[in-house]
Order: sequence, then C-alpha cells, then structure tokens
Amino acid sequence: MIAPDLKTAIADLRGLIEDAQSILPFTGAGISTECGIPDFRSPGGLWTKTQPIPFDRFMASGEMRNESWRRRFVMDKHFAQAKPGRGHQALASLYRAGKVPALATQNIDNLHQASGIAPRDIVELHGNTTYATCLECGERYDLKWVKEQFDANGEHAPDCSCGGYIKTATVSFGQSMPVDAMQRAEQLTKACDLFLAVGSSLVVWPAAGFPLMAKRNGAALVIINREPTEFDELADLVVRNDIGEVLGPFIAS
Ligand SMILES: [Zn+2]
Repeated sequence: MIAPDLKTAIADLRGLIEDAQSILPFTGAGISTECGIPDFRSPGGLWTKTQPIPFDRFMASGEMRNESWRRRFVMDKHFAQAKPGRGHQALASLYRAGKVPALATQNIDNLHQASGIAPRDIVELHGNTTYATCLECGERYDLKWVKEQFDANGEHAPDCSCGGYIKTATVSFGQSMPVDAMQRAEQLTKACDLFLAVGSSLVVWPAAGFPLMAKRNGAALVIINREPTEFDELADLVVRNDIGEVLGPFIAS
C-alpha cells in the first residue's frame, strides 16, 4: 500500500512501530543524501562517470592502489564533514527506546555510529570507509596516517608493516562479502517483526534478499524510498516521501 500523502505515511508508520516488538532497520544511500553524501550508484552519480576500481585490480597493481587512495582522499570533503541526518537520529531514538536491537546498513559512511548506535549493534554489509585495514593481518589504520604517508611518499600508498596492502575497510566490487555480517543480517531479519527498509533501492545484492526473507518469516515490511522498488507490492506500507520528513517526527526529544 503506497501512502497517499506524508501525513498518512507518518500515521501508518507510527502504528506499525507501536505494534512492533523488534524492528530491523535496513538502510541504504537515501538516508545519507541529506547529510551531503552522494548516492554513487544513482543516475548521474559518481560511479556512472568513474568506474569503481574492482578488488582484483586493486590487488594486482600498485598504481591502482595509489589511484584508489587518490579518489578516496578527494571524497573526504563529503565524508569528513557529514553529520547524522533526521533519518539516522530517528533510528537512534528507536534504538534507545529498545525497539531496535540492531541495524543493518549498506552504507559505508559511519553515520549510524555517529548518531549514537553502538558499533556492535550495526551490521555493515559493505564495510566502512572512514578507516582502513591491512588486508593480510587486519591491523586498523587511521585515514589521517595513510594520507600523511601517501603525501610524504609522492602519492604512493603505504603498506602495512607485515607487508600487506592497506585498504579502506569497505567491500569493493569483486571482493567477497563479509561472512559474519551477512549471517548476522540474516539472523536479525528472521528475528524481527518489522523490517524497515530506508533509502535502499533493494536491488544490489545482498540487499535484495532480505525483504522477502523477512516477509516469509511473518514480519511486516515497510519501504521508505524515493523511487519504486520491486518489493513494493509485498510491502505493508510504501512511502515515497522524503526520508527526513517521514522519520523526523520519530526523533525523541
Ligand atoms: Zn598487516
């Protein structure tokens, strides 16, 4: 059922949230656009102009690793300044109220953490771009340190002391999905009684699998997204209004 207007959308959503015992928010790029983080996959987005560097090319070539870091530092004007938006704050309020035990996200921007949700309760399906790790030993690195090394060495990406390559903690194209995160998202999907998809087109794997899984397990399904998704017909409530406008009233004062 597509909400006919914003007021109805908020009222219907309020009812579903009140009825739910355990809500699983599942968020995508749309929740962060009001925070100044572009949706790279959208038409006209960065990834339609500059192809992302696939994982095998990152691994195969030092020049690709340097290029990958060069692009990341250019993007920092978006990521470093971004603050949680109304959607993030509303979900953090529901988390504090005990309605949301944990949250799953496709986003890599760290804004759910910044909104006050404990990192252990955030399942990041595509990783996190606000820090880096060694692909061999897992050592964590600050981006500031990587940038200093990069600049000091004539735009050459530093390697870990173990010899491994250092990469943002994101999941690149062609890189295997994090098994732990996938399993946990699946468990949470099966345990929730309200699956709240926010700002995701639900197209990119593995996002596409979860709404159906939730529905088959008897959960209610709400989809809040600007554009139609292929799961809209299954959903108990579809909201196509602005995410900040819809979720703003759920921010606890
Ligand atoms: Zn290492």
